[in-house]
Amino acid sequence: MTETEKALRVQVLVIGSGAGGATTANVLAEQGFEVVVLEEGDRHPLSSYGQAPTTAMRQLYRNYGMTPIMGKVPIGFVEGRCLGGSTEINSGFWHRLPPEFLLRWKARFGVEDFSNEILEPHFEWAEEALKVGSRGSGYWPKSTEVFNRGIKAMAWSAQEVKRAASGCVNNNTCSTGCPKGAKQGVSVDLIPRAEAKGARFLTGCKVKLLLKSGRHITGVLAELKREGGSSDLVRIDADYVFVCAGPTQTPTLLRRSGIKEHVGDTFQIHPMLKVTALFDETIDAQKSVMPLLQVKEFWPDISIGGSFFSVGHLALNLADNWNENADAMNNYRNMASYYVGVRGTGRGTVRAKMLGDGDPVLKYELSDVDVRHLSQGLARLATMLLAAGAREVYPCVFGLGKITSELEAVRWLDESLPRSSLSLTTVHAFSTCPMGERADRCAADSFGKVHGVQNLFINDASMLPDSPGINPQGTIMALAHRNAEHFAETAR
Ligand SMILES: Cc1cc2nc3c(=O)[nH]c(=O)nc-3n(C[C@H](O)[C@H](O)[C@H](O)COP(=O)(O)OP(=O)(O)OC[C@H]3O[C@@H](n4cnc5c(N)ncnc54)[C@H](O)[C@@H]3O)c2cc1C
Repeated sequence: MTETEKALRVQVLVIGSGAGGATTANVLAEQGFEVVVLEEGDRHPLSSYGQAPTTAMRQLYRNYGMTPIMGKVPIGFVEGRCLGGSTEINSGFWHRLPPEFLLRWKARFGVEDFSNEILEPHFEWAEEALKVGSRGSGYWPKSTEVFNRGIKAMAWSAQEVKRAASGCVNNNTCSTGCPKGAKQGVSVDLIPRAEAKGARFLTGCKVKLLLKSGRHITGVLAELKREGGSSDLVRIDADYVFVCAGPTQTPTLLRRSGIKEHVGDTFQIHPMLKVTALFDETIDAQKSVMPLLQVKEFWPDISIGGSFFSVGHLALNLADNWNENADAMNNYRNMASYYVGVRGTGRGTVRAKMLGDGDPVLKYELSDVDVRHLSQGLARLATMLLAAGAREVYPCVFGLGKITSELEAVRWLDESLPRSSLSLTTVHAFSTCPMGERADRCAADSFGKVHGVQNLFINDASMLPDSPGINPQGTIMALAHRNAEHFAETAR
């Protein structure tokens, strides 16, 4: 951070440089707006990516990768905090918003100008920008191959999902930052493109407060990190402010700044239950990209797919029943991890801490439906892995050490796992500032303009009105692109 000015004035201020922020900056810089992006995390060169998970988490993740979502069942959540945000550490799986959800959002939230036809060019833009596509070669890593064997045995509908990872060299670094730049975090290409168009990205700069005068945002108060660890508090004035700080930080910043109407009241996630399988054959999942197929047979309520695998992550996955399962660590080369993800029908909130730094407090209560779907998903995934040849299946469920037969597995089709025994995680969060014309439900209008404030916009995962039931980045970027273009047309 080299800026030393104590007060700046800019035309458009974008807060956050992830999926939503990088997209917004690109569109607005291209349209000739003066754009400055403030990013709390640092800029890291690709040469520093791909380090051991604990190092990468300190470098690229918020809270070193340990953010709890509190509730009767605590859920582990991770998100990025670096130039490029969570796109730098995600897996790059790509979906377009399914038409069913599009209609649901229109019906429940009154999202206007919203159809497949309208969204199509925006998805196309994002897909071109991130080189989204199917894998070129026919070769599958072993962890995908055995998964496919199970899918075939069950005769389920499944697909190899497109990814923002053209040229993937299968080196298992998605979640630690891809040093090859094959996985397209937005810092690889999109941010340099925005910079070439004139957008400026200031890193190590955390926005603490939005400054208001009546119904108008006049600017922000931000903390700029200086070399040596000290920091300056600066005021940056702006004509327009786009908050793209992600699903937990955007509502927190708004609430800290006194903007609370339907903000942080509807936190949604895809709760995920991880399951590890032990095979007789060598898999070497620790050396390869995660399994590339997703089972859609039970979608939208239940999705089944592949998880990142490292020896450290395996230890975590076995930790619920460590005394019983610790010896399995010796067989790590024969193991691979998968997940059951459910759409998430519980309810959550995001609030700013009353004391101290004002950081978010995240709460989510699983619904009974979530617990049923997680139980049924486990039954199906375990059955499928056994059909694929797994000898033992280890779910992240306290007290359920391993599943070794199909009869043990199918039990959970009809019974619910004890809620308190679940060890859940998530990497998909959204819906904390829903958009739509239903002012009784939404924080912002159909294009992300915050209700009741003249020049404040949200343009990130927060604006998705509800859980999309698919990997969300495509939808976030397509909507952010649409909204930024709409802003550019109307602001002139
Ligand atoms: C491990 C992992 C795997 C994932 N896998 C996939 C996948 O395969 N496919 C998929 O579609 N999605 C995936 N996701 C989810 C996807 O990456 C996110 O949904 C998406 O990046 C969210 O976009 P966003 O713009 O809302 O937030 P982010 O991309 O997280 O960007 C927000 C940025 O804002 C910055 N910020 C926050 N507060 C402030 C502040 N006060 N001042 C300045 N800057 C601030 C943050 O540091 C961050 O850089 C994954 C996520 C993770 C963590």
